[in-house]
Amino acid sequence: MKTWLECCRCKKRYATRREDTSCTACGHLLEVQRDVESVGVSRDEFTARQSKSGVWRFKEVVHPDLKEGQIVTFFEGNTPLYESGPVSDFAGAKILLKHEGRNPTGSFKDRGMTVGVSEAVRRKAKAVICASTGNTSASLAAYAARAGLPCVVLLPEGKISYGKLAQAISHGARVVQVQGNFDKALALVRELAKSEGYYVLNSVNPWRLEGQKTIIWEALMQNGWKVPDFIVAPGGNLGNTSAFGKALLEAKRMGWIDRLPRLVVVQAERSAPLHATWKQKSDELLRVADPETVATAIRIGEPVNWAKALKYIERTNGLVESVTDQELLDAKAHIDASGIGCEPASATSVAGVRKLVRAGVIKPHDSVMCVLTGHGLKDAETTMAYHQGTLEGIKPTHANKPVVVRATLTDLKRALS
Ligand SMILES: *Cc1c(COP(=O)(O)O)cnc(C)c1O
Ligand SMILES: [Zn+2]
Repeated sequence: MKTWLECCRCKKRYATRREDTSCTACGHLLEVQRDVESVGVSRDEFTARQSKSGVWRFKEVVHPDLKEGQIVTFFEGNTPLYESGPVSDFAGAKILLKHEGRNPTGSFKDRGMTVGVSEAVRRKAKAVICASTGNTSASLAAYAARAGLPCVVLLPEGKISYGKLAQAISHGARVVQVQGNFDKALALVRELAKSEGYYVLNSVNPWRLEGQKTIIWEALMQNGWKVPDFIVAPGGNLGNTSAFGKALLEAKRMGWIDRLPRLVVVQAERSAPLHATWKQKSDELLRVADPETVATAIRIGEPVNWAKALKYIERTNGLVESVTDQELLDAKAHIDASGIGCEPASATSVAGVRKLVRAGVIKPHDSVMCVLTGHGLKDAETTMAYHQGTLEGIKPTHANKPVVVRATLTDLKRALS
């Protein structure tokens, strides 16, 4: 089965060994393409496979050209799909939660990194690099260490959770904090890579998105290949949205599913360039110069994958929504209280469903799948600040505040009464 790179806008084709991830004709990003119809493995054969990695279960439709010895893996994927009464009650529709926080480094980024870092090995790259709001750097640092590759990460100074920073540092990446936001850091990475020959592992990298497709395939598989009415995920740099749309269209082409769910992207209100672009039907990205939100993983004003993402939102008759920090933190409080837990950005999916149910777009009997992108321990500072009521401008509506008592039985009983 032949594989090539193809521009997501003008369809110009390139060889897979190409370094530059943008189209020379129109400047938009490239995607990996192949004749998936001729894969030669059936849906039921993929389903029946025992695979330690939920990504490499689907190797033929992720990266068939890799040799076994080139695969860099921590056995990512195979994450749970949960039903949750409390979360469904909160949102007002029946929700299944695909928990990507249960990956090796605690976010869905591992699904992309296993493929992207394997490709770096195949290309004999000397070193890898990324800009990151946190999770990309945590994941890349771990996979680069596994591959024995030097790794550089650029982070926006001060706007990253401690847990994620600790992961990048402890896994041995060269960490540089840039005095600017994520968008600036990514622009620098792309420039530096051109002149210094680093292999870039941001979501401009088309191989990463090939790995992230398996989130959707695995979730559908776990659901007995029953297609939900809506699939909902947070949107930052919009790599995941693009990967999800591609996964759905390929699943339909391969005959794995016979209809498409509507793909819904939810952004944080003050970091919502795609929401604005989609609502105003603009042909150019309406970028946000100074993005803000407590959900640092999606604090992005110039998402590089916006054109790809829009294409798939249109093709799936999908939609874009935005939620406030208050709404996403309240949703997180409910997801956390159900015992499942997630990081702030992940909760935008459930907050978005609640908003769309109230607007009558999602009906109470519709089936909805929400992707929880990161682990609950990823941003303990924000969780604690919410429950202690110290987040500026946020009402701790569902706070569970810890109490301090003197070490006597009387004081303890009083505190618990
Ligand atoms: C990276 C990330 C996102 C955003 O994903 P994009 O592909 O950039 O849109 C959302 N949530 C978490 C936890 C992330 O790490
Ligand atoms: Zn093009």
